[in-house]
Amino acid sequence: MIPAALTRLWLPRTLLERSWQLLRAEGRARVESEVVWGGRCFADEGVVFSIVSPVGEGAYHRTGGISVGPMTIAALGQWLRGAQGQIALAQVHSHPGAWVDHSHVDDDEPIACDDGFLSIVWPHFCQGAPPPATEWGIHEIQAGRWRRWTAKETEARLRIIESEAVIMGSHRWADALEGR
Ligand SMILES: [Zn+2]
Repeated sequence: MIPAALTRLWLPRTLLERSWQLLRAEGRARVESEVVWGGRCFADEGVVFSIVSPVGEGAYHRTGGISVGPMTIAALGQWLRGAQGQIALAQVHSHPGAWVDHSHVDDDEPIACDDGFLSIVWPHFCQGAPPPATEWGIHEIQAGRWRRWTAKETEARLRIIESEAVIMGSHRWADALEGR
C-alpha cells in the first residue's frame, strides 16, 4: 500500500536514465511507451528500486494514450510483490510533443488507482536529454481524481539521487579536510 500521499519520492539517477532510454527507443518509432516504477515505502516516503516494462499484446497503444490490460497489470503486481517485496509507485509514459498533462485515456486507464499513486509524463517521445523534473507532468491520484504537481511541489517532493560520484582525493590529510 502506498501511504495516502507520499511526502517524498526518492529516485536513483541510474533508474531515471534507464527509463528515459527505454521510452526513447520506442519514441524513435514515434510510439508512446510506458514503464512502471516499483519500490518500497518507508513511513510516508517512497524509494524507487526497479523498472518494469509491460510488453506484448496486453500492453497496447491507442490514440490518446496507452492501455495495459488487467492480466498484464496483475502479472506486473505479482512480480513486484513476489520475491521483490515491492509495490508499484508510479507509471511513466511519453507524449509526442511538449504537452505533459493527462489525456482522457491517461485519466481513465491508469495501471493503479490507489491514493498516492503517481503518473509521470515525459515530453517529445523522450528524444534528447531529460528535462528538469519541474518540466515533467507529475500527476497524483486522490479519491479517483488526478491532480498535477506544481513546480514548487516537485522541488519539495521529488529527490533524484546521484548513483555515482567521482571524488578527487588528496594524499594530504589537511587538504582533504579543508576541501582543497
Ligand atoms: Zn498520455
